Amino acid sequence: VSERLKNLRTTIQEINRYVPGKSIEEIAREYGHSPAEILKLGSNENQLGPSRFAVEAIRQAAGSVHLYPDVDAAPLKRALSEYTGLPEELIVASGGGMDGVLDTLMRMFVREGKDVILPTPTFSYYEISALANGGRPVFVPRGENFAINTDQIIRAADDASLIFLCSPNNPTGNQVSEKDLRGVLESVNALVFLDEAYVEFADKNFIHLVKEYDNLVVGRTFSKAFGLAGLRLGYAVMSEAIQRAYMKVATPFSISRVAEHAGIAALEDREHLKESIEMVRRGRTQLSKRLNLETYPTQASFILAETYPHLASEITTKLLSKGIIIRDCTSFRDAGKYLVRITVGREEQNERVIELLNNMV
Ligand SMILES: *Cc1c(COP(=O)(O)O)cnc(C)c1O
Repeated sequence: VSERLKNLRTTIQEINRYVPGKSIEEIAREYGHSPAEILKLGSNENQLGPSRFAVEAIRQAAGSVHLYPDVDAAPLKRALSEYTGLPEELIVASGGGMDGVLDTLMRMFVREGKDVILPTPTFSYYEISALANGGRPVFVPRGENFAINTDQIIRAADDASLIFLCSPNNPTGNQVSEKDLRGVLESVNALVFLDEAYVEFADKNFIHLVKEYDNLVVGRTFSKAFGLAGLRLGYAVMSEAIQRAYMKVATPFSISRVAEHAGIAALEDREHLKESIEMVRRGRTQLSKRLNLETYPTQASFILAETYPHLASEITTKLLSKGIIIRDCTSFRDAGKYLVRITVGREEQNERVIELLNNMV
C-alpha cells in the first residue's frame, strides 16, 4: 500500500473477502448458457420471487424518491411490532439487510483485540465484520450433527464481547436447542447475537427471549422468506437498553423509502409467506428423499449434502456446466471439502438438480 494509505488498519488489509454464491451473469458468460436457463440455487433466494404486493409498493414509492425516508422507519417498525408481537421499543430496522444491523452492533460492542466467538462452520460474514471492527475471532467447532458446543463456548467466552449463534445455522440447517441457548445466555457477560435469517421455515424461534435476557439480540431479514434480497432490508429485536443505544449510533435514513414500503407490503402478504414456507417444506422432503447423497436434517430453505468421495468443488463445477448453481461449502471455515448447500426451490427446479446430481455420484 502507498505511503498515503498507511493509516488503513492492518487488520483490514489481512481480511479475506466474503465469498458470495456465483451470479447468473457470471455463469452465463463463463459457460455460454443463456441467463434464462440458469437455475440459481446457491444463495438461498426465494424461488417464488417477491410478493406482488411488495412489487406494487415499490412502483408506487418510486415517484417519491427525491424525498428522504422516515428517519426511524416508524411505519415499518409498527408493522414489525405486529408481526413479531413485540413492542416497537425493542425493534430496530436496517438498510443493508441484517448485515447492516450486525455492523452497527459490532461498532457498539467490539473493542480492539476483544474476542468474538464463532461456532464453526457458520455464516462467514461474522468473521469479516469482527475483524473489520478490530475483534479477534475465536472459532469453536461444532460437535455431532453440528450442534453447538455449549461448554466450550462458555469457557471461551471469558473475555469475549460477542457470541454469534445462527439458528437455523447456515450452512448446516440445524437449530440451537432452547437449553443450549439459555445455558449460554445465563453463563456469559458477552452479547449474544442470534441470527434467525431462516426462522420462518423452522419449527421454533427464540424471539420472545429478548424480554428475559438483556444480552440477547435476535437478527432477522427480508431477504429469505419474504423474497426481498435485492432490496437489502433487515431488522432485529433486543432489550430496550440496547435498542436505545443502537438508535444513537445507527446510520440515519439507512432504510430507503422504497425498501420501507416494500417491507410493509411484504409483511401484509401472508399468502406469499405461507406459499414460500410450504414450497420449502415440500422441497426439503423431496430433496432429502430423492437425492443419492447423504443429506442433513434441515430447518432452513436449503439442504446440506455430503459429496464424499467426490470433492464438493468438482460436483459444483460440473453442475455449473449444466447451468445449475449450488454452493460449494469449502470456503466455510471448518466445513471440509465434501459439503454442498442447495437452496430448496419449486418442485420442478428441485427435480432438475436431483436428476443431474444423481447422475454424477
Ligand atoms: C442470508 C443471510 C443473512 C443476510 O441477510 P441480509 O439481510 O440479506 O443481509 C444473514 N445471516 C444468514 C445466516 C444468512 O444466510
